[in-house]
Order: sequence, then structure tokens, then C-alpha cells
Amino acid sequence: MTLLAAALAVCLLVALITILRQRSATALLEQSLRERRTVLNDFLAQGTDSRWSRLCSTANELVAEVNRLNKANTGQLAQLDATLGSLSEAVLIVDPGNYVMFANQAVEAIFPQARNILRQRVEVALHSREFLSFIEQVRAGNAEAQREIEFFSGSESVWIEATGAMIPSLQGGGESWALFVLHDITKQKKLEALRKDFVANVSHELRTPLSIIKGYAETLVDGHRDMRFEDRDQFLRTILRHSERLSSLLEDILTLSRLESKNPGLHRELVLINALVSSIVDDFRSRPPAREHVFELNMDSVIPELLLDPLKLTQVFENLLGNAVKYTAKGSHIRIAVRRKGPELELRVADDGPGIPASDLPHIFERFYRVDKGRSREKGGTGLGLSIVKHIIQLHGGRVWAESEQGKGTTFIIVLPIKSAA
Ligand code: ADP
Repeated sequence: MTLLAAALAVCLLVALITILRQRSATALLEQSLRERRTVLNDFLAQGTDSRWSRLCSTANELVAEVNRLNKANTGQLAQLDATLGSLSEAVLIVDPGNYVMFANQAVEAIFPQARNILRQRVEVALHSREFLSFIEQVRAGNAEAQREIEFFSGSESVWIEATGAMIPSLQGGGESWALFVLHDITKQKKLEALRKDFVANVSHELRTPLSIIKGYAETLVDGHRDMRFEDRDQFLRTILRHSERLSSLLEDILTLSRLESKNPGLHRELVLINALVSSIVDDFRSRPPAREHVFELNMDSVIPELLLDPLKLTQVFENLLGNAVKYTAKGSHIRIAVRRKGPELELRVADDGPGIPASDLPHIFERFYRVDKGRSREKGGTGLGLSIVKHIIQLHGGRVWAESEQGKGTTFIIVLPIKSAA
């Protein structure tokens, strides 16, 4: 009985050891396949079962073949990378399953959020249905030569001009891969949108005074004989006011387009800035709308002569002082300061008027942006003055911005480099 029990225990132990050995052997084989390593020879030799040995040999052959194909493939991709890697045009290759097989550095420059896109599905990496449909059309051979596609990444969008073609797979076999050249046209698209906006804004701005002039002129033509003298007088004055508005609008548009052109007509000369600013302020003080404001001028005494365009700088002050008068009540204080701050010159125009709301402040230098449209138009504003100021200051290598607190006033600050100008 004891003998039988002992034999049974031995059999159980042997079975257990065999199961454990098979389990660890299978795990080792699986790991080797996963890591594409050949199964160790001594491990193979340990096998007592011939089926086991055959399985290991077949696994080794498979691993060797996969490694060989991979090496060849990596070699071709490396060659491709050496050729196209530093090209300024973005090049992207996808396999029939839409996995990205190649992407050069320019792809990452265009889509900085798409890191490590190799071997990712293209829709996961680049998030664009339209691009996906373009890939399908290129595969089907019915895509247009080029397609403009908008890619969205967060709040920003990137515009791409894509061209696609089919190429033989770099892994061999019958399947074809699709190659795309992507050209970043975001800048052109933004400029185009700006231009369209500008044209729409200009048309809108011109339409209002023109239709007023036309309406009043028509009424005068039809009824001037029967009209009271005072009405006729008022009609003619309205026509005059709106023609003046039209002409200042056209003048500002022309000034802006000149400033934005390749030759903005900057005529620099050595200028004593204190003398220039004093004469502009004196001239301003004597004009009717500004007479009732209080001008305070504060200037550092030793400021070197600067190389700048005096007429353009006068235009900057005309706009800033004009706004300070336009948007503040009679009797308001307008403080002008000229200070040397190390290598820079700081010019300030500050008023104690109503100020500009914080939400409007970042936009006031944009073309046609007005905080209060009615007020600006009523005061003869074109909405272009601060754009002109910004362009002139930037042409002089400086910067300009505004600080404001509602109910307390607004300060425009201009900083010009002394060194580069002198
Ligand atoms: P505008 O011809 O309308 O004055 P600007 O480009 O000169 O156009 O100014 C843009 C807008 O900024 C103005 O319409 C006005 O709403 C606001 N603004 C400019 N300067 C001042 C100021 N000193 N105080 C209050 N608001 C101002």
C-alpha cells in the first residue's frame, strides 16, 4: 500500500515537473518570438521531444526571415531619410493600411503636435478626414493634382497644399504605398483672409459716406428750387462733411498701403527729437478742437540727435494727440513725455479720459478696429490711425503699445532704439 502510494507520488511529481518545464519553455519561446530573437541553442538541445525541437527550429527560421526583411526595409527607409530627411518640403509615405511608413523632419515642423508619427495610422497622427479621402483618391488614381487641405490642431489651423503619387512598397511585394508632398500654405491663406477682410472693410467704410452723399445730392437736384435756404445749407454741409470723411479714409488707406509696400518711403535724417516734439505740440495747442485741453510736456534735456523720418514721426504724434483730444472731454489733461532709457528712447502720450476696456486693448492697433464705432465716426475717425502709428514705429525698429484703465485714462508708449537710429 505504501509502495503504491510512493509510486503514485513519484508519477505525480514527474507529471508536475513536465508541465512546469513545458510552461517555462513555451514562455521562453513566446518571448523569443516577441523580441525577434532566435531560440537559444542550448535550450533547443535540452528538448527531448522532437516536435518541440522542430517547433523551435521553425521559430528560429521565422525570426531570421523577419529580421532580414526588417533590415532590408530599415536600410531602404534609412536611404530615403538620408535623401528626403532635410528637404524643406514635407514628405509623408503611407502603406495600404494607412500606417505612416516615412515622414521627414519637415512634417514635424508643420505638425509639431504629431510627434513619433511613424507606424501610427495617418488619421490618428494628423486628424484630418479630408486628407484621408485625398489618400483614397490618390490610391484610386482619381485625385486632383493638388489639394488644399485644412488641418486642425487645437485652436490653430494649418493649411497644406498636398500632392500625392503611388510608389512601389519599400518592403517589396505587390502592394503599393502612397507618397505625399505637403507644402505649408498657412501664411498665404492668412494673408489672403486679411486681404479679403480689408477689401470688405474698405467697401463697407466707403459705402456709408458715399450713399449719404448720393442721397443728399439727389434730394438737392430734385427739390433745391422749393427748399428752404437753411435746409439747403444743412444738406450741402452734410455732403461736405461726408466728402471730407471719404477723402481722409482714402488718404489713410493709401498711407497704409504705402507703409506696407516694399518701398515705404522712409526718409531718415538727423533729428533733434525734443525740438520736433515741442513744435508738434505747440502747433496742436493752437488748433480749435485742442485749445480747450491742457497739454503738459516733459522732456529729458540731453537726448542725442536721432536718425528718423520727421514727417512720419509727426504723423505718429498727430494720430496719438488727435485721439487724446477726440476721445476725452474738454479740459482734459494730455501729458507728453520724452525720456532716454538706456539704449532706448521712450515717448509717452497720456490722457485722463475714459480709457479703453481691457478686452479691446489688444485689438486697437488692428485696421478698422474701433472701441465705439459711432463715436469714432462722429469724430471723423477712420479706424486706421493706430495701424499707421504701429507701421511707422516698426519701420523705425521700435515698438508701440497702450496701457489703459477705464475711467482713468490711456497711455500710449513708444520705444525707439537710440543706437541703431543714431
Ligand atoms: P479712429 O480713427 O477710430 O480714432 P484709431 O486707429 O486711431 O482709429 O483708434 C482705434 C480706436 O481706439 C478708436 O476708435 C478708439 O475707440 C480707441 N482709442 C484710440 N485712442 C484712444 C484714447 N486716447 N482714448 C480712448 N480710446 C482711444
